[in-house]
Amino acid sequence: MKKVLSSTVIASLLSLSATAQQPLPPTVLYYNATLINPATEQQLADGWLLVKDGRIVQMGHQQADASLPAATKKIDLQDQYVMPGLIDVHLHLTAGPHRVEMQDGKPVLTMKGDSEITRYHAISTLASGVTTAFSPAGEAAANAEYVRQQQAGNWPGPKLSYAGYIFEPTPIIGGSVHPKDEAGWQAEIANQQAQGVDHIKLYAGLSKEEVAMGVRLANQAGLKTVAHLDSVSWQFGAELGIDILTHALPTSAELLTGAARDAYLIERKNLANQRFIYSWFQHVDYDSEPMQRLIRTLKKQQTRIDLTLVVNELFYFARELGALYPETDLWVFHPQMRKGWRAVMAAPSYDWTAEDFAAAQQQLPKVQEFFKRLYDAGVPLAIGTDSVASGPFYLRELQLSQAAGLTNWQVLQLATTGGARHLQLTDTGQLAEGFVADFIVLPANPVTDLAALSTLQTVVQQGKAWQVDDLKAQLTSLTAVEL
Ligand SMILES: [Zn+2]
Repeated sequence: MKKVLSSTVIASLLSLSATAQQPLPPTVLYYNATLINPATEQQLADGWLLVKDGRIVQMGHQQADASLPAATKKIDLQDQYVMPGLIDVHLHLTAGPHRVEMQDGKPVLTMKGDSEITRYHAISTLASGVTTAFSPAGEAAANAEYVRQQQAGNWPGPKLSYAGYIFEPTPIIGGSVHPKDEAGWQAEIANQQAQGVDHIKLYAGLSKEEVAMGVRLANQAGLKTVAHLDSVSWQFGAELGIDILTHALPTSAELLTGAARDAYLIERKNLANQRFIYSWFQHVDYDSEPMQRLIRTLKKQQTRIDLTLVVNELFYFARELGALYPETDLWVFHPQMRKGWRAVMAAPSYDWTAEDFAAAQQQLPKVQEFFKRLYDAGVPLAIGTDSVASGPFYLRELQLSQAAGLTNWQVLQLATTGGARHLQLTDTGQLAEGFVADFIVLPANPVTDLAALSTLQTVVQQGKAWQVDDLKAQLTSLTAVEL
């Protein structure tokens, strides 16, 4: 049964006054809701929020005999639940489908995007309750264009900050750069900075020296760094002062010890063998000296991390994606992305046997234990999907975090205040006076059951209210592009 919001427009007394000098900005009062604030773990029944100029200017709860504050417009939320908008700290919003193109007679991967596809994913992401996002890699110009259009109110979607092309030796068209020398790095960093990036993305194929140079040059330019490391260890990255580490794949041999390390190094000699994405977890001992030292360093440096547990699950269950994510979930993808999505997710496991998959799936609890150890140590974590559209992957990331041993409140904190901390936003992620009016309205209580998030019907972003059904209706006009 769908609930429809009723609204009453009340004429402002001031606007009727002939002597009014300046029309006041409109105020919107949202009332008759339970306000859920993960930051304080508090639920306020009969709550109300007064919104002006895209911000929450006042909030409270209705006493039986007290009247509500005056507002230009009043919206009765009919006993629903309101919580801060979700934050996806790993969203490749402007990426296009993975395709192989020929360049100089050689096959090269391309992820070049398209503005229609970007607009589609921005709308489907907003319709999933995500009001703020960070793209840790992508075409800077495409992201800059998105931000211009989103801020101007032309393209509905999450508020976005972004990094540019990844610094990585493996070429990806519309995805990677690998300058030859320091001057080249400096020029590329300046180029990305001119296109509005706030982070430089350092990737898995770089050497230690390159990672160190990248951090140094980015910081000199006043930019931060986000890294997906592999053979260069997280320990090295954290000590360097990398700001963000991404993915539950801290797959460096340097974090292993003894015979496990030797066995792992032999596996890694075959570069086509992608089993390391689970076998590292078979080998690691979280109580070993290198892992204990890593966790201490991450805590000390307050290295921000998005583990994207959902990616490990997608890889480990690559042959069962149809069951995990039925076709009805895939509306969040532009039709051009829908067909190839499962194949992309299955790429690392193309040569795995049934035994390999069973071994990988057995490691998921150990991946989650890594998450819990970081969380318990006080390493700042946040929620990311690594998708082009947050959609069902966001809820799954929350559920995997909960299964790792967090309470629903703790999970909702990661989704809101954790995301804000990750992106260093001081006015986002809470229902509080002075904060950006980003919130979602739910018929069921997400503190009781996280799955309530999938019943979302209304999203308020920067003070503007969107009905999910209206957003979904907009998607149908964005499916024409052929690539
Ligand atoms: Zn990613």
